[in-house]
Amino acid sequence: MEKMKAVVTYAPNDIRYEEYPKPECGAGEVVLKVKGCGICAGDIKAYHGGIRIWGTSEENRYIEPPCIPGHEFYGEIVETGEGVTDFGIGDTICAEQIVPCGECEFCKNGTYWMCKRSAVFGFKKYANGGFAEYIRIPKTAVKHKIPKSFTQEQSILIEPIACGMHALEQANIKHEDVVVIAGLGAIGLSMCNIANLALPKMVIGIEVKENRIAMAKEFGADVILNPKNQNVTEEILKLTDGLGCDVYIEASGNVNSANQGLELLKNHGRYVQMGVLGDLVTADWNMIGDGKELTIIGSHLSARVYPAVIRGIEKGLIKTDGLISHKFKLAEVHKAYQTAESDPAAIKVMLEP
Ligand SMILES: [Zn+2]
Ligand SMILES: [Zn+2]
Repeated sequence: MEKMKAVVTYAPNDIRYEEYPKPECGAGEVVLKVKGCGICAGDIKAYHGGIRIWGTSEENRYIEPPCIPGHEFYGEIVETGEGVTDFGIGDTICAEQIVPCGECEFCKNGTYWMCKRSAVFGFKKYANGGFAEYIRIPKTAVKHKIPKSFTQEQSILIEPIACGMHALEQANIKHEDVVVIAGLGAIGLSMCNIANLALPKMVIGIEVKENRIAMAKEFGADVILNPKNQNVTEEILKLTDGLGCDVYIEASGNVNSANQGLELLKNHGRYVQMGVLGDLVTADWNMIGDGKELTIIGSHLSARVYPAVIRGIEKGLIKTDGLISHKFKLAEVHKAYQTAESDPAAIKVMLEP
């Protein structure tokens, strides 16, 4: 069996750079030579364990180790299986982060990102991820061609930007809205950019890290607030005649940010949960009903927006400049994870073979 180099997950806090069987191409599948793969906050959370990924025992865990992490990949097709007609050898493509089953109620009604039997690339052996020299794209994966003009940065950011664009679609932004985006990582910065394409009244970003604050203006935030040295609630009430914001998009994953959102929203405001929270939230639930008549909206993955993201980048409407802060080789995966986690200058960190 042919071998390749890959990063392999064995257990919480145990990933190794080693040899792994090179994937074979079955009917309806394609194999990519990976050109790069971004590190998601979810990859780091999975690395450290966490009950939603690792469960409480081998029977109820989501992850199936040993498997290869990484869902923000792109690459060039080097092999096509029997029956593949819409893509050919030499095409540069990416696949959406979820591999839907193609058969459940959600897949059949077109809401495949909610598939009950899906795998996200990087967590199961049949959907090994992009921290490798080659990746097999299963038949039911949702593939997209990437224009030849795209840079490595643009190609890798399609996935995270798509997640942000879905959250914005969930928020249904209108011209009169004051939109608050809490957490300006790569996705949050990009959401400032894309929110502006709907011409709302104001986009306000909330962030504590200095380099992200410095980038936020360029990405379209009209006002940036830092909760470390400002009273965010007071500032937003000042900016909105004491009413609060119309839309609050939680993109930081910080549990305090959830409460902050309920507090900052105006009566009839819309709260969108996009970030993956690190812990349970305790909140005054009456704020939703008896208080403000709020709408609470979820946002999961990216829902049919990849083509729009690719178009937006191609037209120059969606910016990616500077969102990739660090690039490492696969062999340096431990250093890359550490940088993503603890370097204050990190925005999106990526790996390449
Ligand atoms: Zn991701
Ligand atoms: Zn399904």
